[in-house]
Amino acid sequence: MGKKQRGQAPPAAAPGPEEAESSTAPAPVVEPTPPKEVVYCGVCDWPVEYCEFGSTFTKCKEWLKAEHPELWDKYYSEDALAARLGTISLEAQSKLEKDTAKKEAKAEAKAEADMKKKMSSQVIIKRIERTKRKHVTVISGLDKFGVDLKKAAKQFASKFATGASVSKVTAGATDDEIVVQGDVCYEVLEMIEDGVGVLKGIPADNVEIVEDKKKKGGD
Ligand SMILES: [Zn+2]
Repeated sequence: MGKKQRGQAPPAAAPGPEEAESSTAPAPVVEPTPPKEVVYCGVCDWPVEYCEFGSTFTKCKEWLKAEHPELWDKYYSEDALAARLGTISLEAQSKLEKDTAKKEAKAEAKAEADMKKKMSSQVIIKRIERTKRKHVTVISGLDKFGVDLKKAAKQFASKFATGASVSKVTAGATDDEIVVQGDVCYEVLEMIEDGVGVLKGIPADNVEIVEDKKKKGGD
């Protein structure tokens, strides 16, 4: 069955005769980019032309109307919409709107769930007595607030000039904790309250200091 390559143009052939003279510089003509100021959306951070593809379109539009009314007119005024409607079918338009609404509802639900989860999470700072004079401070729950535990451990280590590491919680828990050498419970609490470095954004109400005095069996 004679296979014929279809629709495939032969590789770019030699330039036409009228272009031959400029064969040393065949560079395609680059259109000078008009000086165009890109306006970035204050809600989704994308250039405002792309807001409609995100999940915050409604809020984006509100923002644009408040901050750049002239751009809002350009993109979303009745005239602008009418012009756009001319290019896509009504059906496509209503599908677009439905998709957007769906996306937004989903994003909102997710944000709410995340917030609830956060608010019901706790950071526990625990002082553990290793020996008579040696304590460690164990901080758990930071990951629930989106804190990078490795970075946090580094931060504690340099702040207290001591050892700090991320370690697996025993007994099958899914989260990790940070173990800092020495008793720095209150200092850690203060750092969280002040939102130092990677410890930003943890509500102080969700942080608790727990004393863990282990009873030592006969020594
Ligand atoms: Zn936006």
